[in-house]
Amino acid sequence: MSFNIIQEAQRCLNCKNPTCQKGCPIHTPIPDVIHAFLNGDIDRAGDLLFENNPLSMICSLICNQENQCEGHCILGKKSSPVLFSNIENYISDAHFDKIDVSNIPKNGTKVAVIGSGPAGITIAILLARKGYDITLFESREKIGGVLRYGIPEFRLPKSNIERYKKLILALGIKIRPNTSIGITITIDDLFRDGYKAIFIGTGVWKPNTLHIKGESLGNVHFAINYLTNPDVYDLGESVNVIGAGNSAMDVARTAIRHGCRKVTVFARSEHIAASSSEVEYAKIDGVKIITNVEPIEITDEGVIFVRVERDSEGNKTRVEGSEQLYPASSTIIAVSQGPRNRIVSTTTGLDVTEHGLLVTNTFGETTRDGIFAAGDVVLGARTVVEAVNYSKQVAEAMDKYLLGLNDIND
Ligand SMILES: Cc1cc2nc3c(=O)[nH]c(=O)nc-3n(C[C@H](O)[C@H](O)[C@H](O)COP(=O)(O)OP(=O)(O)OC[C@H]3O[C@@H](n4cnc5c(N)ncnc54)[C@H](O)[C@@H]3O)c2cc1C
Ligand code: SF4
Repeated sequence: MSFNIIQEAQRCLNCKNPTCQKGCPIHTPIPDVIHAFLNGDIDRAGDLLFENNPLSMICSLICNQENQCEGHCILGKKSSPVLFSNIENYISDAHFDKIDVSNIPKNGTKVAVIGSGPAGITIAILLARKGYDITLFESREKIGGVLRYGIPEFRLPKSNIERYKKLILALGIKIRPNTSIGITITIDDLFRDGYKAIFIGTGVWKPNTLHIKGESLGNVHFAINYLTNPDVYDLGESVNVIGAGNSAMDVARTAIRHGCRKVTVFARSEHIAASSSEVEYAKIDGVKIITNVEPIEITDEGVIFVRVERDSEGNKTRVEGSEQLYPASSTIIAVSQGPRNRIVSTTTGLDVTEHGLLVTNTFGETTRDGIFAAGDVVLGARTVVEAVNYSKQVAEAMDKYLLGLNDIND
């Protein structure tokens, strides 16, 4: 191994007030994990990670550590922070196949989990370990949500998700692939069939549009659709990517790996929403980034942008006469996603926000009794660790609800 995990762990000061842990959205007990690891107890270190975050193995690969644990490590103030993501990945990976799923007494209570992304996987694992009889409904062929159909292989090898599938099956969870709830089977059918509680973790899969001319042209695509299966797209030699978040970087880097020679990302402002490491990698891959431009029309030949300027208060104005065609054989729009309404439109009593996100309280209870939700379908497009963190609380609330307790409301 070129990167020495043990030496890196030895750099940790085992701080009494660990700022790294505070910076982690799921408060991973970093010093305790490192301490157990250095004491030769990798299984305890692995347990600490998995019990706190069932998706630790995934998060170690794709979290934005530079703004989270590593960005908050005290050593980072004067030199390089402890690169905990590498340590976490080493431990989680070594420990994963040892997670004990034997001897879990079953309680016979059926729970339906809709959506097999980070939120659904977390709920399914946590409730199955409490003995519930879980069925995981997934509209696509394979489980994983964005982990499988969004984040590219070069950032998150799909073999990790296959290992989760193995764990899920070992926990006795039934998976129903190719089953979109709200089409043939509705929420009411699930209650009819004996599910005592339902969890919705369906994410955000409806691409946001720009509302400009040209979005329906044959050489224009949406980021999340492209990333679902890049092999089926023929983008040609050059691609314009509109938007500058992590999805845009994933699109750009994927397009380069699929043979596009010239890939340009266009951002509305100087600020790039994607994490700085993703931007650096994109640049190293050969992606060009142009800032302070807004698209005004997409044509068969490329995109017409106008330059924008901001005053000291951040107010934006378009620079008159600066319209320019940036030629490209294809255009990909990467300006985030919103939720689909398949479930909401076929279920009574589920309130949504003006953006179509499910309304829940802090325990993930929706406005209909027995239905809970978490992840992007509640929070909007966010991150894996936030989906897991929220789902952890919701799993506890569902357990209490199912045990017939009435104390989950504020
Ligand atoms: C391109 C891209 C890159 C990203 N990169 C990162 C990153 O590097 N790090 C990070 O932390 N976050 C990243 N994110 C965000 C992160 O992936 C999401 O916040 C996270 O996946 C949300 O989890 P979720 O379970 O709520 O939803 P999802 O992952 O979207 O999973 C929802 C699942 O529900 C299924 N589903 C939807 N409707 C139905 C239905 N009616 N019936 C049955 N199943 C249904 C979907 O097929 C999907 O499998 C990225 C997002 C994108 C789009
Ligand atoms: S802040 Fe850095 S040095 Fe301190 S416990 Fe966390 S990882 Fe170790």
